[in-house]
Amino acid sequence: MAGFRFPSLTRAPFSRELSLSIVLAGLLLSALAHAADNPTLAIKVDQVGYPLDGPKVALVTLPGGPATPPITTFQILRSSDGAAVFHGKLTLPEADSNSGDQVQAADFSSFRKAGTYSLEIPGVGRSWNFSIGKDVFEHTYYMAMRAFYGQRCGTAVDMGPEFPGYTHPACHLHGEFHPSSGAKGPRDNIGGWHDAGDYGRYVVNSGVSTGTLLWTWEIYGKKIKGIRLNIPETGNGTPDILNEARWNLEWMLKMQDEDGGAWQKQTSENFPGFIPPEDDKLPSEVMGTGAAPYKSTCATADLAAVAAIAARVYKPYDAKFAALSLDAARRAWAWTEKYPNVTFRNPPGVNTGVYGDATCKDERLWAAAELDRTTGETAYSDFFLNNYAEFLPKLDSPPVENWNQMAPMALWSYVLGHRKEFDAQAIDAIRQRTLAAAHSIADRTRANPYHVSMQAKDYVWGSNGVDAEYGMYLLIADLFAPDPSFVDAARDNLHYLLGRNTFSLSWVTRVGDNPFQHPHHRPSGDGKQDKPWPGLLSGGPNAGRADAVLQALPKDLPPAKIYADQLASYASNEICINWQASLVFLLAGELR
Ligand SMILES: [Zn+2]
Repeated sequence: MAGFRFPSLTRAPFSRELSLSIVLAGLLLSALAHAADNPTLAIKVDQVGYPLDGPKVALVTLPGGPATPPITTFQILRSSDGAAVFHGKLTLPEADSNSGDQVQAADFSSFRKAGTYSLEIPGVGRSWNFSIGKDVFEHTYYMAMRAFYGQRCGTAVDMGPEFPGYTHPACHLHGEFHPSSGAKGPRDNIGGWHDAGDYGRYVVNSGVSTGTLLWTWEIYGKKIKGIRLNIPETGNGTPDILNEARWNLEWMLKMQDEDGGAWQKQTSENFPGFIPPEDDKLPSEVMGTGAAPYKSTCATADLAAVAAIAARVYKPYDAKFAALSLDAARRAWAWTEKYPNVTFRNPPGVNTGVYGDATCKDERLWAAAELDRTTGETAYSDFFLNNYAEFLPKLDSPPVENWNQMAPMALWSYVLGHRKEFDAQAIDAIRQRTLAAAHSIADRTRANPYHVSMQAKDYVWGSNGVDAEYGMYLLIADLFAPDPSFVDAARDNLHYLLGRNTFSLSWVTRVGDNPFQHPHHRPSGDGKQDKPWPGLLSGGPNAGRADAVLQALPKDLPPAKIYADQLASYASNEICINWQASLVFLLAGELR
């Protein structure tokens, strides 16, 4: 807009071009008149906010490219009265290849007064509101954690007075065995979380999701202990994050067969329509590999890992449940020793998610690491030490799909849980490799015009999850060797998810002034409510264009722009529990 040039009045005064120019100039002036009132997408802020004493940066991209000469000044306005409380200068425009944008930065780090503000650029407009404060991310943590409660299956859900009407009666109350499971008849498998926009439940994706939440508690327990999630168990003496994780954990434990193996998933054969969960009457079937031993190794190893963590974290609150979890973990591990790589593919006639994985050795490494950490027994440490070295290269960059690449959590767990009898060489190798990668990620993030760790290759299905995993990676590195540059770069990735992106969109439903509106999420798309269910993270841009909506976007879009806030764009706008868990970890890490 600012680069618009008025045509010369000396040329062809009554031409069609001039008439059009006058109309355009009128529109431009009218747009400018409203600029002070209406937030503009040209200014990108974290719509939640910025911690009081950390870096504070907003980003600016002008439609049609930067003005000549470039716009140079900005001011911070106090939202209560519109008073300008800070004046600053924008950096020169910088080209961002991932989005194709020319990006200018507005740094107001030196402004340190708590409150609610917006950022204004004369001639461009005003940003969405944001807060500056000590605990700016606490409410977003609350929202992101409560989103798991909203995904609960097998029980009535009510998001409470904050979100009246966001309720559903108990759903999927009858489980049964699918022929591929090797068993027949009903199976009392109710509970767990709906995995994503569908109503399926999958042990493999439950593994990384539940494991990440339990780690969030183990690592950041002090910071989140007092945050009440207002869920049915609140006030029972157990921290709420553990109450919520247990809902899914108990379902995972029910997916374990008597021989110790875990079935892969419990879903209908086909996805239901966009109906509320209680109206989905398709049989909810426990599915296996279709041939003996019917259970799969990745699912079983993930169950072993998560149940081993559970044995540690629930012990002070429910020793009986902790012991039961440890027993399940041991039996699951033993099953994987007998069947080290039984993989899963959908049985004929089944079209729901697969979460298939060709190699389960990294899942076994994770199970061994967590069992070693919990029990200190040599059977587990021997497996870990005999196998960890081949997975060290997996630390060089966060995996783009965290559910099928468990090596990083396996390796990190060995360092995080280390005791004096642990192998010093292994610990050193894992630490050094992680720190080297984290320094490189932090440097790259600082240099990136959008201040994000993402590279072109990272705009895959669930790219917002990749972004959150970069944050998690940096925060783990900070545990190994505290470094403010890791924490700042992790927070930069959080800023991206909460609005400081090319769309100026908060990718968490009902969070910020301009959140995305149309998740591929059946309860949000069933027509009962205008707005989506709260606290859910969108999958984000997907350069793979794996749905018709993305395929219809212009052909030359750069990767960060291949996104559509549409219900039908399952490849860019679905929600999913593993991305959600990474977001929770990142938010908890950034609490003060
Ligand atoms: Zn359900």
